[in-house]
Amino acid sequence: MKLLYVLCTLCGFAATAWALEREAFTIAKYDLQITLEPAQQRLGARGKITLRNDSAQPQKIVALQISSSLNWRSIRVGGKALQFVSQPYVSDIDHTGALSEAIVTLPAEVKPKDSVELEIGYEGVIPLDTTRLTRIGVPEGIAKHSSWDQISPSFTAVRGAGYVAWYPITTESADFSEGNSLFEVADRWKAREAGSEFKAFVSLGGESETGPPTVLCGASSDGSAEYGHPWAALASCDQKRLGTITPTLVAARYVVQPKPPLTLYSLSGDENGAVTYANALEPAMKFVSGWFGTPSAPVAVADFADPNSAPFESGTLLMASMAAEDSKLAGTNLVHELVHSALPSSRPWVYEGLAHFAEAMYRQQQGGRDAALDLLAAHRTEFLDAEKEVSVALQKNARQTGIGQPLASTFDETYYRSKAAYVWWMLRDMVGDDALKQAVGKYRAEDDKDPKYVEQLVEAAAKRDLGWFFDDWVYQDRGLPDFHVQSAHPWKTDKGAQIVTVTLENLGNAGAEVPFTVTYEGGEVTQRIEVRAKGTATTRVELLGAPGEIRINDGSVPESDLTNNVFQIPAS
Ligand SMILES: [Zn+2]
Repeated sequence: MKLLYVLCTLCGFAATAWALEREAFTIAKYDLQITLEPAQQRLGARGKITLRNDSAQPQKIVALQISSSLNWRSIRVGGKALQFVSQPYVSDIDHTGALSEAIVTLPAEVKPKDSVELEIGYEGVIPLDTTRLTRIGVPEGIAKHSSWDQISPSFTAVRGAGYVAWYPITTESADFSEGNSLFEVADRWKAREAGSEFKAFVSLGGESETGPPTVLCGASSDGSAEYGHPWAALASCDQKRLGTITPTLVAARYVVQPKPPLTLYSLSGDENGAVTYANALEPAMKFVSGWFGTPSAPVAVADFADPNSAPFESGTLLMASMAAEDSKLAGTNLVHELVHSALPSSRPWVYEGLAHFAEAMYRQQQGGRDAALDLLAAHRTEFLDAEKEVSVALQKNARQTGIGQPLASTFDETYYRSKAAYVWWMLRDMVGDDALKQAVGKYRAEDDKDPKYVEQLVEAAAKRDLGWFFDDWVYQDRGLPDFHVQSAHPWKTDKGAQIVTVTLENLGNAGAEVPFTVTYEGGEVTQRIEVRAKGTATTRVELLGAPGEIRINDGSVPESDLTNNVFQIPAS
């Protein structure tokens, strides 16, 4: 009897699900009051959300989702309770591998582009949960280093959409085991929410014997918790526009060190690590000010209780363990955050790309160009793999547009971080420090309305046409270049000088200016050459001895095939 009931309930849901457009509504505005009770691992929420119908059809039903360890308590419109059915919805977008979904019948149809405001209440617990990783075979001990979100008496850190749905979302099911499905769903959600407003006031409830923790919502804290005032706002998030930010809650007994614009939040035991960060601040400030303007917006670096936790960044909050006293890492981490502080932008490839590019430049200042290229290379594998698929598609039809992830519009992290960092690095190699500094110095987020704004700034400073480069790397995803030596002819001038005429071919659909090195007996010469997509370029190189080999690309240009980059010059 019970089984039959369950089956029929499932049939009912299946019918609902069939008609349900889960991504029809975007949540355009959040205004939440969050109460954390670390001792009980509890989170309680009430507040208002504004739903906007972004689909082409009128909608009467909405599926609101929160983490499966939270439960819906009430959903109202204009003070009137709405009918809703609550059901579990399997999705890897949450660390528990499932969501609590409320299927809500709205009082009236909402027309396309129209909005409706709901008053909502939900609560539950957020313990550490590695389900979505362990069920695809990741060992628990490793999974908890990346899936570290939890509310706990000693340390609380909870990231939002894509990690823990601690605020409502509206998404289709995401599956970790199905290639890119999880990332596609999460990136689509981020793109839909980029223009949304997010406000949350966070307070602490309950009692604790160990004293008041510091509460953070994003990079901001309104001070430490005062016990006995359970509803005082202790931290607030107030984002007029979410962009790439993932709203994040943190509560721990931090030692707080304000060093404007930076605030350091370290845990006891990590004092030396905190000193390492404090010492790295001044040189990082100097470097960033020279390139990107004076950092002024507040940034925060917050320590982890578990030193093995994978670092995480959202806007101007960086979570990174301070257990290790690594001054190099502290330096690049601070440079990254200070670039955000100095140069706001609503374009992910500008905002994050410049910050990662700055890290590489800072590394170059300390350890040379190879050290910088190593830093850039650390994260490139993921986008190289994705770009190979684009190259295959372009081989079938080179004129295809709208494929891959154009940098200008992508919400895929590997692109707007790693690929973007390379694009800025290539631009710097092409136009030089002075011109790029000038262009970056003129950048204003409020003037960045035309997609070609950045191109125009760089072109004006460099006095060089870069339209082809921006087309291949920023406005379209054209995959990656693939260089090889088409021919190399050594010859001697009348005066006996050794010359080699080199022709490089680019088999890929993205053009680039690439460095190549010619070795000879007793030395080597490096030159740069622009080779457009599917094109060739020829130049002469003068050598001081018998020619040896040609090596293309020092790693500064992402390339699809590096196995054909070395060429032995034939004897003349
Ligand atoms: Zn960043």
